[in-house]
Amino acid sequence: MCMKEIDWANLPFGYMKTDYNVRIYYRNGQWGELEVSSDEYIPIHMAATCLHYGQEAFEGLKAFRGKDGKVRIFRLEENAARLQSTCRGILMPELSTERFREAALKVVKLNERFIPPYESGASLYLRPLLIGTGAQVGVRPATEYLFVIFATPVGPYFKTGFAATPYVITRKYDRAAPLGTGTFKVGGNYAASLRASKEAHDGGYSAEFYLDAKEKKYMDECGAANFFGIKNNTYVTPLSSSILPSITNKSLIQLAEDMGMKVERRPIPEEELATFEEAGACGTAAVISPIQRIDDPENNRSYVIAKDGKPGPVCTKLYHKLRAIQYGDEPDVHNWVTIVD
Ligand SMILES: *Cc1c(COP(=O)(O)O)cnc(C)c1O
Repeated sequence: MCMKEIDWANLPFGYMKTDYNVRIYYRNGQWGELEVSSDEYIPIHMAATCLHYGQEAFEGLKAFRGKDGKVRIFRLEENAARLQSTCRGILMPELSTERFREAALKVVKLNERFIPPYESGASLYLRPLLIGTGAQVGVRPATEYLFVIFATPVGPYFKTGFAATPYVITRKYDRAAPLGTGTFKVGGNYAASLRASKEAHDGGYSAEFYLDAKEKKYMDECGAANFFGIKNNTYVTPLSSSILPSITNKSLIQLAEDMGMKVERRPIPEEELATFEEAGACGTAAVISPIQRIDDPENNRSYVIAKDGKPGPVCTKLYHKLRAIQYGDEPDVHNWVTIVD
């Protein structure tokens, strides 16, 4: 594909074939050398544990081209550490941060021509994947694994500008159990969320919100984004044993503190939604998706957060601040960025 053919401004958040992906195989008790592939397919044994028993972990991070032409990968070490935590969670061998870095830098450099220009507001999305490939029929961890990172350019999340949208609480479904795999980035959690997610989208909502699975009283998170609320100069985000530790949330917490806000990480009862001045869903895809309102149809309630229907000042400031660091427009004082050279 020729670079001129890519319509950077209208890229969806979807898969586009790029030139290369990188792979590392785990065999005989150790990780091998980094391999470069231009094949989009993975030949796999039909008894591989990832296919039957969900031994599958993934990550998501982005590389951004700055005004200065430099390419920056955002919080690579945090993604490596979270993948290691997921590996411990579902008994897969950990890949060191060094090896993760080597693979991420390589895949970005090899696909340089797919990194969107600064002006487009688009970025290169990196999707690391670690799967059990060893054949097993009994329920046991595999003895062989494959780590892959592919890259694909993705468009700006807000095509028509940063906007507030409606969300819905689902009471019919849980994403993860309190002592389950909610804190790990595994495909199984997504499988568990598909029905609720479809129902939310069919109902005209941006995404579904889960309550804590045990008491159904506290805000947990969305299918793929953490929750935060803003009030009285305080950034409030749930403390829960079933949510995925979002790196975007962690970054926003730091920025909120830098801006002189207080931060509270604690259970958030659903009724407290009525008291927030602003709220957002946060994750790598959108950074912040401001929340216009959260409906709880099964309980006949609706919490309108953005009274004027627009993103609030704190969400807007946090959003622009984080994006500015990602694109290199503002100094990287917390060392969040890896420059690719
Ligand atoms: C990936 C993910 C997030 C967002 O995490 P980021 O590191 O901010 O991208 C939030 N919730 C769930 C369930 C996720 O899988």
